[in-house]
Amino acid sequence: MYYLRFTEEVKKKLIKHTFINPNLECGGFLYGKLKRHGLDVICDVDDIYYENLTGDEANFRFRGFYVCHALEYQILVNKDLLGTYHSHGQYPAVLSDVDHDELQQRFGKNGITVVYSPKYSQLVSEFLDRDGVSHRMKILSPENKKFNF
Ligand SMILES: [Zn+2]
Repeated sequence: MYYLRFTEEVKKKLIKHTFINPNLECGGFLYGKLKRHGLDVICDVDDIYYENLTGDEANFRFRGFYVCHALEYQILVNKDLLGTYHSHGQYPAVLSDVDHDELQQRFGKNGITVVYSPKYSQLVSEFLDRDGVSHRMKILSPENKKFNF
């Protein structure tokens, strides 16, 4: 199984970001630690980085300069960059083909893609494993409790 664990603080920060403009997509970066226990992958996200950039109603692109800033932030906080999140504005939180391509081409294996819908209060996450296959992640609190978004 694949688990994504958010601290309460990170959850609030991520949601607050998507509500800066809930009609347009926006995105940011996820930091923390990845652990493997047998067949399980557990990703603990304890920090995010974002800038006040917006895409359009159904698109957000992680441009090169933005990824550079995220890598600089990674060095600053000395944590692992685990992947990205983006909002889906007024649309449901479902990963599109573009999202899969973005995940696979830009961030490669061992990367998380999170999508949040401010309109529907939905959050989904997928993990691209080293076998090259995307797996749906179960989202939990750090105490392994069910997480309500
Ligand atoms: Zn998307």
